[in-house]
Order: sequence, then structure tokens, then C-alpha cells
Amino acid sequence: MKLAIIGECMIELSNSEGELYQLNYGGDTLNTAIYLSRCGGEVEYVTALSDDVFSNKMLENWQSQGVGVKHVKQIANSVPGLYLIENEANGERHFHYWRSNSPAKFLLEQCPEIFKELEEYDALFLSGITLSIYSEASRAKLFEFLNKYRDKGGKVIFDNNYRPKSWLSLNEASKTFNQIMNLTDIALLSMEDEISLHGEHSIEYCIERWLKAGASEVVVKNGPNGILTANSMGKFEFDVPNVVKPIDTTAAGDSFNGAFLANKAKGESLEKCIRAGQFCAAQVILHKGAIVPREVTLIEE
Ligand code: ADP
Repeated sequence: MKLAIIGECMIELSNSEGELYQLNYGGDTLNTAIYLSRCGGEVEYVTALSDDVFSNKMLENWQSQGVGVKHVKQIANSVPGLYLIENEANGERHFHYWRSNSPAKFLLEQCPEIFKELEEYDALFLSGITLSIYSEASRAKLFEFLNKYRDKGGKVIFDNNYRPKSWLSLNEASKTFNQIMNLTDIALLSMEDEISLHGEHSIEYCIERWLKAGASEVVVKNGPNGILTANSMGKFEFDVPNVVKPIDTTAAGDSFNGAFLANKAKGESLEKCIRAGQFCAAQVILHKGAIVPREVTLIEE
């Protein structure tokens, strides 16, 4: 299965000591792409950057991690999005964003040729964060494209990743999430985010909603409490086999997705995909930061 991932990666500044900030690059969908590659899969990342020094460093970095960049557009005279993580002494983290003019936001408007390019993929992955960066007009174009793409047999894979701050209102977010729900084949959901979006409800009800909307496979991630899935064969529950005491839960869901999709692309069973995702995520949360050092083993022997 040929897979492309659509989203945004930004410059990340995090303060480790007083006013000294460390520079990294981060974004939910990029994390998924990197873990997918590190778990043995092949993937192209779809976004827009600028042609500045940071954009070029990002491109180099992604390539060195095995992520394909042939669809990454470079829009001149712009700067990539940036976010700053403020670490309080009590361990609490606050995120501040400078992304309202980032090139990724304008990808679908300024580089419409991307739609044609995406047709060559068997599956496209995107997240709630991906949707939040686009204008309403861009989202309408994307949904129109996804509709036709699915008619021709393409599969849409979606992770809800709901960040309230990235939306104008809960109403705008829930309307958009309902639109993508009707266009999703494989849903990789965080139960916590589903509840933030739609109020308190059971995992069973969540699964029913997505199946009814047309998904053929639904995977609901529920932290250390396990995973509930449903497909045409029925509903299945998976405990987390190795519950760990996390050091940093950043990218737990993203790394799960990466390993899951690397296995899915190879045609592995749902159980194998889930187990690979659980193993990878459990390793990732034992390390600080979204992307763990390359020597960490992410595939179960
Ligand atoms: P998200 O970040 O999308 O909300 P989760 O919090 O459910 O996703 O975490 C994703 C996956 O990470 C879980 O399905 C589980 O496999 C793994 N995970 C989360 N917390 C733990 C933990 N304490 N021990 C082991 N694995 C965990």
C-alpha cells in the first residue's frame, strides 16, 4: 500500500534552562511519518515549507530519517510555523504558536497541483491538526477531492487529534470532524479527544458512530487502558501488554500510528498492527521529546 501523510511540521523551541531555548522540529503527522519509516515502512510527507535555512534543514532531517519529501512544496518569501514550549518548574508545559502565516496553511490554495499528485497513493493519512490549519475554503476543496479519491478506491486514514486552541470554536471543530468522519476508511482515534469534542460517551458508542459513517476499521486508543477496535469481523479488545511509567507522553498516539501503518501497508493482520503500535508507543513514552534517539528499538524482536 503506497501511503502519503498530509500535515505540518514546525520549528520547535523548548526552554531547558532559564531563557536558553533548544531548537527542534515537530508536528503530529511528521512524528507519525518518522515512526512509520523507523518501523520499516515507506512514506511520503505532504506539506509546504519556505525556501529559508530552517525549511532546508527540516527537509534534510526528514530525508535522513527515511521520510520521502518529493511532494513538499517550497513557497518563497515565507517562514515556517513556530511553537515554543514553556516548561514550568512544576513540570507543567504551555504551548505558544506562531503559525497563522505558515506556508503549510496555504498548501492547498497555492499549490493545487498537489491533488493530482495525491491520486497516485493507495492511502492518505491526515489528522485533526492537519484540518485545523486550513481555511474553510481549503477544507472544502480537500473534502471534495477526498470524496472522488475514495470513489476511485483510495483509502482515507484519520487520527482525530483535537486541539481546542487551533479552532475558532467547538462548533467549527465538531462540524469539520463530522465532515471528515463521513470520508474516513480507517479511524485511529484518541478517546480523550472524542470526549472533548462530543461530550462524555462510551467507547462502544464512539465506534458505532464511526462505523455508521462508513469507516471499515475503527481503532480507539485509550492510553494505558487498552484499545478497542472494530471492523467487518467484529469488535476486539486489546489490553496494553506492557504498561510503563511514562517519562514524557508526547507522541504516544503518533508513534502508535506510525508502527500501526507500517504494518498495515505490508498487509499485516489487525492484531499485528495493534501490537506493533503498542510496542512502539511504549518505547517512545519512556524517553523525553517526540522523536526518540535512533538507537531505541521500536520493533518487537
Ligand atoms: P493519544 O496520544 O492519541 O491520546 P494514547 O494516550 O491512547 O493516544 O496513547 C497511544 C498508545 O500509547 C496507547 O494506545 C498505548 O498503546 C500506549 N500507551 C499510552 N500510555 C501507556 C503506558 N502508560 N504504558 C504503555 N503504553 C502506553
